Amino acid sequence: MSTEPPIVVVGAGCAGLAAAERLAAAGRRVLVLEEMDCVGGLAGGARSGRDVYEYGPHVFHTTDPEILADVKGLMGADLLPFHRTIRIKFLDSYFDFPLRVSDVVGRLPLTTVLAAAATYVWRTAQGMVYRPAVENSETVLLRNYGDVLYRLFFRDYITHVWGVPPSAFSPSFAKERIPRLNFLEFLDKAAAALQRWRRPAQERTATQGFVEKVAGDLYTTREGFHAILERMAERLRGRGAEIRLSTRVERLVREGDRVAAVVTRGPGGEETIPCAGVISTMAVNEAALALDPGLGPEVAAAAGALVFRAIVFVGIKVRRPQVLPASFMYFREHSFNRITDFSYFSFHIEPPGTTLLVAEVTCSPSDPVWSDDALTRDWVLDDLAREKILERGEVESVHVFRARHAHPIYAMGYERALKSILDAFGYLPNLETAGRQGLFQYVNGHVAMKMGREAADRLHARLEPAS
Ligand SMILES: Cc1cc2nc3c(=O)[nH]c(=O)nc-3n(C[C@H](O)[C@H](O)[C@H](O)COP(=O)(O)OP(=O)(O)OC[C@H]3O[C@@H](n4cnc5c(N)ncnc54)[C@H](O)[C@@H]3O)c2cc1C
Repeated sequence: MSTEPPIVVVGAGCAGLAAAERLAAAGRRVLVLEEMDCVGGLAGGARSGRDVYEYGPHVFHTTDPEILADVKGLMGADLLPFHRTIRIKFLDSYFDFPLRVSDVVGRLPLTTVLAAAATYVWRTAQGMVYRPAVENSETVLLRNYGDVLYRLFFRDYITHVWGVPPSAFSPSFAKERIPRLNFLEFLDKAAAALQRWRRPAQERTATQGFVEKVAGDLYTTREGFHAILERMAERLRGRGAEIRLSTRVERLVREGDRVAAVVTRGPGGEETIPCAGVISTMAVNEAALALDPGLGPEVAAAAGALVFRAIVFVGIKVRRPQVLPASFMYFREHSFNRITDFSYFSFHIEPPGTTLLVAEVTCSPSDPVWSDDALTRDWVLDDLAREKILERGEVESVHVFRARHAHPIYAMGYERALKSILDAFGYLPNLETAGRQGLFQYVNGHVAMKMGREAADRLHARLEPAS
């Protein structure tokens, strides 16, 4: 075994494990450091006794041929096709999601439909000749949907989930996050098909400016998405890499333009580990602040300007084989904005006749729900009873768990702050940042994997050849 300092990968989620695999395959010595006691990150599972709860619904999907072939090869017959169904509640009615034009027209009052059509046509026509000097997510959504649909379906829901209204979001939030009405998507697809016909090309997943879309076939496993990550970790260990769990990276020690070591806190206390390079998948602003010495006041201010939305998850084991009428449901009038029923995911749930639900309560870490398990549990159970989904008597057990960095908030001006940090990192040739937290980008698991691979390739090419 080589005695050269390892390349340290911070985080054992999709991006970190994919990066580590790529480096190990290139003959590099790799050490993965993960602060949690299991691999997977956001795509992992929170354990409570024998039950494993996912961080909300996690479905594997990709149109990238390399990632798909790799995950299929890794999982074999354990990768199971999945059909998702989504219901969303508005005005006391349940709608399929993404919204279908026929549903919107057929289920809303005629006057609302007419007003929606008029404002949609007006905003579309207006959008062809005029764009506001400063765009935000509200201006984009108004243009795409018109005033009535925007108010009905987006304004209050977004404010409820994110804690800020669409007008406070950068336009990229609406462009990357909000699916368009089906007939608009149809036009997009027709244009894409025409382009492919003119210039046939193998579809590769772009990680720059990725627009979050559920594309390709959907898959799950009987143990959930996290089984893919656990298998990746097993394969990585088989290639000689070390994964240290429950080990938090507290500082990235900088000597001039190199990261020379990482300082960790783990079960054995503090340790300084010299390194040849670092791939960080921790939150990009935390990585900037972990550099010691720091990168100056401008970068520190930029780090402070990037904010993540947190989620408290309430996992509920229920004495019923299935609870929801769809695999997941969205609400805006309750404590939780989404609830998932894992009986739809082919999960192995013991004993037979029970299912696992996970309700997502978005919040800021300064909100009381972030730190008060009992408050969140009661809030969610009361809302489920009010919605006539579940009675408390059917609940076998409840497990509350959290993700501090669940969603990057694309607040107005976030692009400037992010660029300032990434530009500063550009002066440190043995440091790469990757993944959903590491690039502050709203991506799915397969894109995080791809980002990890790309970061590994870049770092490998820049470092001295492995001995
Ligand atoms: C509610 C929800 C539902 C989702 N559903 C889907 C879905 O259906 N399909 C899909 O493909 N994607 C889904 N995603 C997105 C997917 O979870 C992420 O894209 C993916 O898990 C990101 O992987 P990552 O490695 O970039 O980040 P993470 O998973 O966040 O990994 C970063 C890791 O770094 C560790 N870490 C952080 N700081 C430190 C430190 N200082 N020291 C040591 N370790 C540290 C963290 O503990 C974590 O394990 C969903 C996300 C959410 C929040």
